Amino acid sequence: MKTMNNVSTIHVLDEATVNQIAAGEVVERPASVIKELVENAIDAGAHSIRIDIASSAEGIVSVRISDDGCGMSPADALIAFTRHATSKMTRIDDLNQIRTLGFRGEALASIAAVSRVTLITRLRGTGVSGMKVVVEGGKLLQTGEIGAPEGTSVLVEDLFFNTPARKKFQKSKNTEIAHIHAILEGICLAHPEISFRLYSNRSEQLVTDRTTHLLDTIARIYGSDIVKELIPINLVLPFMKISGYLSRPSLARKDTSRMMIAINHRYVSSKVITAAIKEGYGTLLSKDLFPFAFLSLVIDTRLVDVNVHPAKKQVRLSREKEIAKAISETVNSALLGHDLIPDIVTPSQLHLGESSEDTVTVSDLQYDFTTPAPSGISEAIHSDTATTDRQLRQTELSTGTVPLDSKLPSMEVIGQFGGIYILATTDTGELVLIDQHAVHERILYEQVIARTAGDHRSQEMIVPFILHRTLQEAAILRDLLPALAREGFILEEFGKDTFLVRAIPVVLGKLEDTSIIDEMIHDLISEEPVRSVNTRERITRIIACRGAIKAGTVCTREQCQRLINQIRYTKNPFTCPHGRPTMLRFSRADLDTMFKRS
Ligand code: ADP
Ligand code: MG
Repeated sequence: MKTMNNVSTIHVLDEATVNQIAAGEVVERPASVIKELVENAIDAGAHSIRIDIASSAEGIVSVRISDDGCGMSPADALIAFTRHATSKMTRIDDLNQIRTLGFRGEALASIAAVSRVTLITRLRGTGVSGMKVVVEGGKLLQTGEIGAPEGTSVLVEDLFFNTPARKKFQKSKNTEIAHIHAILEGICLAHPEISFRLYSNRSEQLVTDRTTHLLDTIARIYGSDIVKELIPINLVLPFMKISGYLSRPSLARKDTSRMMIAINHRYVSSKVITAAIKEGYGTLLSKDLFPFAFLSLVIDTRLVDVNVHPAKKQVRLSREKEIAKAISETVNSALLGHDLIPDIVTPSQLHLGESSEDTVTVSDLQYDFTTPAPSGISEAIHSDTATTDRQLRQTELSTGTVPLDSKLPSMEVIGQFGGIYILATTDTGELVLIDQHAVHERILYEQVIARTAGDHRSQEMIVPFILHRTLQEAAILRDLLPALAREGFILEEFGKDTFLVRAIPVVLGKLEDTSIIDEMIHDLISEEPVRSVNTRERITRIIACRGAIKAGTVCTREQCQRLINQIRYTKNPFTCPHGRPTMLRFSRADLDTMFKRS
């Protein structure tokens, strides 16, 4: 016998081999690479994710996923390629409350085992410089510092170069691209709060905007016609929330490819749930037809086992039967046109916990509905304060001392009125009413004007913003491109009526809401040029106007104070760039006269 002669036949596989084997499960095809990398970008808190596919006649050549998420430190960028390296869980108990899409720490290691990966990343909000890591077939080829925008981009080339069997297995290029579309559509629908852009050989394929309305995303992907055929569905149960849209029976297909299910913001395929939806249609749909359905289920994380599938395409649900029954009943009542679908259905109505083998009963379960992923709605509440802070930071000067020749005395904030006017007192005892938008516009305007050519005026957008215009507007805009470039807007033509905004002026800061770019360009091309005002002046005024804190923004006292401190640095604090007053002053004597005290 072999074992007798002391030669061991069993040995532990080396890490590279283990990774290749794991890659067999996680990385089935190019679409799985995109799924894993996009999920990482979502976990990184990205607002905007761009996917670029390059293909030749033979197939997909490379994919690149770029995000504006949290980025990684140089050290993390290296560890991230190690198998079971994850920042998302530490103990097995964490699996019960996973709120991220990843947690197995396998994707990057697996992808890098069967391709060449170039990762470029920079940690958000720190001075740490960017890092580039190149790994090929599991071997580290290159690392080093690199200038990079905040966020992460991962380029994957030569997929399956060292696994010829898997490579051969790849279907035609079009089939692979269809898989990519299917997965991305599902992910877009599960995350309307993120803007996604898919390009194939630089041509735009799929674009969604950040929105709080799922219907916007549905319309963007499948066209606005189908929106008319959709019925909203909403239900809150103690352990589950269901929301989304179902099609009227008139809109049906021969397959289930338009039944998109997200469980806790993870796009999944679930036979049980699609069957439950279909059952809810009952006789409204013939046996071989399936509806359109876009459902988002938020289920107590302890009832959802996400760790049953290496690529996490499926999840296992405890109390599956009750969940399915609740879905069927909700679908059915929505379709029967009960025009008032109750928001709260009591558990007894749905016979929860009855005759369930489950040991967990309704009463001893602690329901947990803290939303797993950032929902657009809760963000909207904070965004104003954060946006105002960003705008104020943009115009804060590094010099702490007020110029001696400041035209204004120091002022102390009393409060804000109507989200527009700041009330303050001067140290000389006057009352001042300040128009917050006009004042900030003036500050921005003077700062933009003060910059001379050669200043670092431009900042690159991680994800170029796409601007669509009518042909006529595009022609006007084309003439303005050089002037815009001088002020820091780098636009590139991208087809006859489309432009890519590659960079924007630094004074605009890190734009959370890119619609402002659209508005600025709109102002510029729709405004009737006044003869006495040159193009640079017009652009500067527009930057000042659009970049300034808006009227109607509720500011904290501290924000008001920062703003009125900043106005003291301007040369002309009393009017905005359009000539309107920025503030009104009342002395004690003025007020006495108005009250007829004297
Ligand atoms: P998992 O997502 O399961 O944690 P991955 O192999 O996909 O495992 O990623 C490993 C780790 O690398 C993640 O936990 C995360 O910390 C980091 N990472 C990967 N992609 C990104 C990204 N786009 N932005 C920031 N961090 C990332
Ligand atoms: Mg991951």
